Order: sequence, then C-alpha cells, then structure tokens
Amino acid sequence: MNHGQREKVFGALELSDANAGVFDGDSWTAGGAEVPVISPIDGSTLARVRQGNKADYERVIASSVSAFAQWREVPAPHRGEIVRQLGDELRRLKEPLGRLVTMEMGKCLREGLGEVQEMIDICDMACGQSRMLHGVQTHSERAHHRMYEQWHPLGVVGVITAFNFPVAVWSWNTALALICGDTVVWKPASPTPLTGIACQKIIERVLRRNGMPAGVATLFTGKGSEVGELLLDDHRIPLISYTGSTLIGRHIGEKVGHRLGRTILELGGNNAVIVTKNADLDLATKAVLFGAIGTAGQRCTTTRRVIVDKSIYDRFRDRLLAAYKKVTVGSPLDDAILMGPLVNANSVRSMQAAIERVKREGGSVTWGGRVLDGAGYEGGCYVTPAVAEVAGNLDIVKDETFAPLLYLMSYEGDVAHAVALQNGVPQGLSSSIFTNNLLEAETFLSAVGSDCGIANVNAGTSGAEIGLAFGGEKDTGGGRESGSDAWKAYMRRQSSTINWSGEIALAQGIVFD
Ligand code: NAD
Repeated sequence: MNHGQREKVFGALELSDANAGVFDGDSWTAGGAEVPVISPIDGSTLARVRQGNKADYERVIASSVSAFAQWREVPAPHRGEIVRQLGDELRRLKEPLGRLVTMEMGKCLREGLGEVQEMIDICDMACGQSRMLHGVQTHSERAHHRMYEQWHPLGVVGVITAFNFPVAVWSWNTALALICGDTVVWKPASPTPLTGIACQKIIERVLRRNGMPAGVATLFTGKGSEVGELLLDDHRIPLISYTGSTLIGRHIGEKVGHRLGRTILELGGNNAVIVTKNADLDLATKAVLFGAIGTAGQRCTTTRRVIVDKSIYDRFRDRLLAAYKKVTVGSPLDDAILMGPLVNANSVRSMQAAIERVKREGGSVTWGGRVLDGAGYEGGCYVTPAVAEVAGNLDIVKDETFAPLLYLMSYEGDVAHAVALQNGVPQGLSSSIFTNNLLEAETFLSAVGSDCGIANVNAGTSGAEIGLAFGGEKDTGGGRESGSDAWKAYMRRQSSTINWSGEIALAQGIVFD
C-alpha cells in the first residue's frame, strides 16, 4: 500500500495507526482486544482497532437511550437539516472516504466513490422526507368524531452491517432513522471497522456543531458472535436492522422475534438475468458483465445466474466469454482495473470449494476461477472471475457463493419456463429480464412472474437507486430500506380518534346504557 496515499486518507478522516473502535456519545474508548485491519489489496496492515467489550456496550446503549429522550423532541424538519449537513460533509470527504472503502474491503475505487455517492443521495432524500412523515386521516362512522394516524419515533435502532457495503448500508439506515427521531447504535462488519470509525467521526462533528447530543449516533466494533449478540437480547432496542448472510439473519430473526422486537432483515441473494430470444444481446452482455463481476461478485444483488433461451444460448455465451476475457484483475486503486480482490482468504477458499462442487454436481467451468498469486498479486486475495455452464438449478446453484462465480443455463419454450427456473431458488432479492417483447416483459413483472423484491426490464440486477424501497423476499428476509415508504419501519404508528360530540358514542352501533 502506498504510504503517502494512506497518510492522506487517514489525515482527512481523522484516523490513526491505533484507533478505539467504540464511540459512546461522549468519548472514544474501548476495552476489548486490539486487532489489525488487513487490506485485501496486498495483505498489509492498514491500522489497528481496539474493539468493544461488555462494559463498553453498556455505556453505548445507556447513552443512546438517553439521547433518544432529547432527539425525539427535535422537530423532524430540523432533524432533516442535520442529515442534510451530514450529506454535505460526505460530499466534502467523498474522495478520501471512497478510497478508504477500497483500501479496506477491496472494491474498485470507482465503486468506492459510487458507494459514498449513494450515502449523499440518501441524505438528500431523507432531508426532504423529514417534511413528509405523514399518515392518513379518514372519516369516522360516529358523528362528530375525527380519526387519523400519526407516526412517532421508535427508540434506539441497532444497525448491524455487512462488509461489502461498509458505509452505504449504515447511511441508508441512519439517514432514515435519524429523521424519524430514533437514535442509532452501529455494529459494522469485522473486516471493515475503519470505514465505520471514519463515518462515526463525520456524524459526531455534525451533531456537535448543531448542539445535539452526540449519543444520537454511536458505534460499537467487535466480533458479531460476541458483541453483536448483545444487541439481540436487549429490550432497550426495539428495532434491529441487519444486513448480512441468510444463515446469521435467520438466527437474528429468531432471537429478536423471541422478545417480540422488530427486525429489518436484508439477507443473501441469488439473482438471475433472463435473456430471451427477443433481447438486445449487446445490452444484456454489458449488464451481465457488470452485474457478475462488479465488487468482485460480492454484492447482495450480484448476477449469479443467467437463464438464456436455448435458440440464442451459444451466441450469448460466446459474447459473454469474449467480454470476460477482457476483464482486468488487480489493485482496485488502479483506474485501469475492472475487478479487485475478494475480501479475504476465506472467500477465496469458499469460491474454490464451490467450483469443485459445480464439477462434482455435473456442471463445467468454462472460464476462469483461478487463484492469482504471482507478480503484482502478492499478499492479496485475487481470482479470475468464473463462468460455469450448468443444466438448471443444481444444489450448488441454490446456494449464494459470495464471489464472482456465474452460472449459465438455458431454457426452452415460453418465458414462463425461464421464470420457473429463476424463482426455483430459496432467495428472492433481485431479478432482470432482457427482452424487447412487451408480452414477455409484462409476464415477468406480473403476479405469476418474478418472485423477487426487485424486478428490472433491460437493466441488470445490481446497482439499485435509493428512490425505491430496497430488499427481497423468501430467504432474503423480507426487509425494506431506503426509498418509497421504507421510513415507516423506523417509526411507531398511532391511530387516534378524537371525539368532539360531547357524548360517548360507541363504534359498531353498540348501546351500553
Ligand atoms: P455476515 O453474515 O458474516 O455478517 C454480517 C454482520 O453480522 C457483521 O457485522 C457480523 O459481525 C454480524 N454478526 C455475525 N454474527 C452475529 C451474531 N451472532 N449476532 C449479531 N451479529 C452478528 O455477512 P458478511 O459476510 O459481512 O456479508 C455478506 C452477506 O451479506 C451476503 O450474504 C450478502 O448477500 C449479504 N448482504 C445482503 C444485503 C441486502 O441488502 N440484502 C446487502 C449487503 C450484503
């Protein structure tokens, strides 16, 4: 890692060689183990972070509970103004923060910068939304009664995030939770504490200069199975928003559900693109390429399966392979590179294991899947992106392998056959169809079409904008974040009836004299 570059980024984001990984609303102190943060680019140690322990956790939650008592009384548009200022700070620091994302988790710099842009976008949207937290009003069946619903702040929101969008997912949750009057406790993923600390420092400055209690947003780093677990049983936290694997998400849903807490679960995907004989193949090829290898196949919305009409299968495969052969793999800080490393050696191993399983289950690996460890790749976690040809949804295909491993399969007959293959996996996050035929597109979007939370026509599975609600069905967990009315999950709804008749009139015509 270029030392000067690291110094510049650390200086702009107020990071040091050794950092406390806990912010309790007042100070940066942590009593847990000190761990190195290793860059997947070259295996170098970026910095050390001291994680939190149980005593730190108690301080953080107490501060968040106490800040909530004040924050919920700040008018929502004023809360929105603070989120707007957060967006401005992110504009100012977009370059160093985007670069830190790349250094810490390995996505290409252009994607690291795009991730920070997404944070800015959600702040802008949340600021506007802060003036539109409206409920319905309706007519009462009783004379001289008025009925309406209102939305109140919920409380402390625990936000547990995945490594692959180390800053955007925090901002999706935090921007909305803050305008809704909630306070936020953030537990970032273990491989990415530095981006967490950097974001926390940014928001802390914004809150302080507005005279707000800094406990409105707090941070707690550490191992999920130890410190993350503390959030799950805690009755002081009415909502846990969790982004991560389905395996851990199921556990979180069960534990929080047991105490009747609420969850927003954003779990694994197994996203497919359908390419029909009426598709523009250039368009489809470009979208599949970005969808499959963007963030080195480590997006929840990564294209994992392509389901191609048999009559054009060979033509599409040849185009796609030609595009794959041009993909450059290397340091994500280099502008010429399209695919950076996987996040760590474990991910490399699980991709290799998946490739072996594909072969055992009868598929063939047509391209890629090699581990790159020669000159230029020393210390890093580099692989070539892989394409495997399979006959339908083999068992391995039904699992999410979080790596650039793309499955190609064909379908015969009308688009319903392709939809059946697409829907025939446990996950239900994102899906696309490439066609210029209106009937095929509408079938795909209909009630008998895609069963995913996201369904696109002539646009890939990844790269969603923040304007619509984001999330998926089935094993993807059913949660929704970001745009549309996703804000409602961060508030409590209250239905109110106001009687100005001067008498007690009962609903349903009941007389009780
Ligand atoms: P992960 O499940 O390993 O970890 C996610 C978070 O959970 C981390 O912060 C981790 O420390 C924490 N955690 C682990 N065990 C815990 C426990 N017992 N209690 C509380 N917290 C615990 O996931 P990952 O490898 O960081 O991320 C990749 C996964 O995330 C993929 O499956 C991907 O599809 C999914 N993801 C989903 C979305 C979405 O919006 N649907 C977005 C991004 C990533």
